[in-house]
Amino acid sequence: RQRAFEHLRDAPAKTGDGQEMTLGMNAGLLVEMNRLEDTGASGVGLFRTEFQFMVADTLPRLSAQIELYKAVYDAAGDKPVVFRTLDLGGDKVTSFISSMREPNPALGWRALRMGLDRPALTRYQLRALVRASGGRTLNVLFPMISVAEELAAARDVLERELDLARRHGHDAPDELRVGLMLETPAVAFAPDACLELADFVSVGANDLMQYFFAADRQNPRVSDRYDPISAPALRLFKDVRQACDAYGKPVNVCGELAGQPFEACVLAALGYRSLSMAAGSIGPVKQALAGCDLSLLTPWLDAEIQQGVKIGAPSLRDRMLQAGK
Ligand code: PEP
Ligand code: MG
Repeated sequence: RQRAFEHLRDAPAKTGDGQEMTLGMNAGLLVEMNRLEDTGASGVGLFRTEFQFMVADTLPRLSAQIELYKAVYDAAGDKPVVFRTLDLGGDKVTSFISSMREPNPALGWRALRMGLDRPALTRYQLRALVRASGGRTLNVLFPMISVAEELAAARDVLERELDLARRHGHDAPDELRVGLMLETPAVAFAPDACLELADFVSVGANDLMQYFFAADRQNPRVSDRYDPISAPALRLFKDVRQACDAYGKPVNVCGELAGQPFEACVLAALGYRSLSMAAGSIGPVKQALAGCDLSLLTPWLDAEIQQGVKIGAPSLRDRMLQAGK
C-alpha cells in the first residue's frame, strides 16, 4: 500500500491553498523507526514507551531503557522525537503489574496516575530518558492528565532527574520540553492551568473521544456513539486549538483520527497544523491535504458546527457528502 504514495515522500505537506502542515509518525518499537525514512515523516510525534514493558516478562532495567531510547535517537538522526512516559493500564497491560486488574480499567489506575503512585517507575524512566538524550533536545510527553497537579508533580520529578544527572556528570539533554497529553474532558474544557505548565501539547484523540462520548474506544457495540467528526466533538477540538494558540503552546493531534485522510482535512480546517499518525497513513493524509482548500472548508465547517450542535449533532461527514452532491 505504501508504494502508491512513495512519490509523495519528499513533497512538502501542504493543503491545497498552501498552508504548511507537519506530519509526524507514531511509533512504539525500534523496528518501526526505519519508516521515518521511507514515509518522509517530519519526526516521531509520539513514541509509546510502554511497548517495551508490554513485551517483557520483567520490569525493563534502567540500562535496557537507556539502550532503547538511545537507539531511537540514533535511528531518528536529526529528526525530533517525542517520548511519551509509560501509559500502562486501561487496555495496555503487563504481566508483572498484577494490581492492574480493575472493574473499570479505562477510568482507573493508568498511565501517569500509576506513575505518580509508584514514583520509582517514573523516576527510572525519566532518568533513562535524560541520560539517553545527551546533547539533544528531550521532548517528554505525560499521558492521562486530568488535573494540573499531576503535570506539576511529573515536571518536578523530571527536573530533579535532570539536576541529578548534571551534578553527577552524566549525559543530559541540551534542552528539555515538557508536553501535556490532552486526553481528558476536564483538561479540554479548562486547560489553562495545564497549559501554563506545558511547553507543548499533544491531543490524544483516541482517549479524549472515548471519555467525551462515554463510549469504550474498543467496544464495537458502542462504536456508533463515538463520532469524532460530529459537531460537539469538533467544537471541542476547535476550542482546544484556540486555547493552545492563546497560550502560545504548539499543539499536535495524535490518535487514529489524525491518520484518516478525511478527518485530517477536518482537523486542518479547525486550525491544526501538526498531526502525528501511524507510518502508513502519512502518504494518504499528505495526498488528501493537498486536495483540500481550507479557505473554503473552514468557514463552511464553522457554520456547520454551530448548526449541527443545534440540530442534534449529525456527523459532518454526512453533511459534507450531501453538500458535495
Ligand atoms: C490517544 O489516546 O489518542 C493516543 C494517541 O494514545 P493511546 O492510543 O496510546 O492511548
Ligand atoms: Mg491515550
